Amino acid sequence: DVKTGGKNGYRFFDPAFYGALQARQQLEKELQAAISENQFVLHYQVRVSTITRQVVSLEALVRWNHPTAGLVRPDEFIPLAEETGQIVALGELVVDSVCAQIAAWTRAGLAPVPVSINVSSRQFNERDMHALFLQALDRHAIPAHFVEIELTESAMLHDPQRTSAHLNAMHALGIRLLVDDFGTGYSSLWMLQQLDFDILKVDKSFTRLLGADRQGEILFAAIITMAHALGMKVVAEGVERPEQVDILARLRCDELQGYLIARPLDADGVQAEIRKRAIA
Ligand code: C2E
Ligand code: MG
Ligand code: MG
Ligand code: MG
Repeated sequence: DVKTGGKNGYRFFDPAFYGALQARQQLEKELQAAISENQFVLHYQVRVSTITRQVVSLEALVRWNHPTAGLVRPDEFIPLAEETGQIVALGELVVDSVCAQIAAWTRAGLAPVPVSINVSSRQFNERDMHALFLQALDRHAIPAHFVEIELTESAMLHDPQRTSAHLNAMHALGIRLLVDDFGTGYSSLWMLQQLDFDILKVDKSFTRLLGADRQGEILFAAIITMAHALGMKVVAEGVERPEQVDILARLRCDELQGYLIARPLDADGVQAEIRKRAIA
């Protein structure tokens, strides 16, 4: 596990230390500095078509380039940022950076691929997300269909009316809406009834069962049937083993994402990955 092993070049905070209140306050202070200096970098993980294996979208995954700890993964600071409300300012940086990156790729003559942005509930409660996205798209002169939004069901729980109104307005602009981590929350099905989602991302805990557990496959097949009947595409998250790809292809899962396809990569790395797949 990355949290204990420091694989992938990531370093991390010692949880024993940061578990203490004083340490939490320290982390919060450092996070504040990180936000005002924008110490964040975005990595991008490809999502590919199950049939063609071409890249259909990139997921932006934020990392904190901490001055002494090195590259810190989101699980180490997003939960605290959500608690303290710092996620709002952090989220604005992410939206702006993604739009700036899409514009830079476009200027460089690289075929622009839509980028999917993770958004937490607090961001919806405290900001006019519709205006925020509109302004960022406008500032960087990129069309709305280059941006997608991923949200988990918890994002809809606080103020469903307001959140769906904003999401509907963004959807009308051409921004695709994705359900993230489907199957892990308490109200996944209720959420589908609230909004017109385009794409459903099945949580990696279901993907993990494929090939090992017959019941897991039955559940996955049922989710795909339901999603297709509702007019959504389905993405399997966390694809790590070739046999999972075979099963997912047989189940008509539309798109794949996971370490087997590609790890999250920096902006240059992901462009190399896209090129490699365009030629192959
Ligand atoms: P998520 O949106 O569900 O993103 C998928 C996570 O699974 C990513 O972790 C990704 O690196 C990891 N992953 C991808 N393929 C595999 C695989 O094959 N196996 C396994 N075990 N894991 C895989 P990451 O980058 O650490 O991000 C964790 C979470 O942090 C994200 O989960 C998302 O909820 C949150 N997050 C990341 N970036 C942002 C952001 O900009 N804003 C907000 N609000 N949340 C973010
Ligand atoms: Mg996501
Ligand atoms: Mg997910
Ligand atoms: Mg998640």
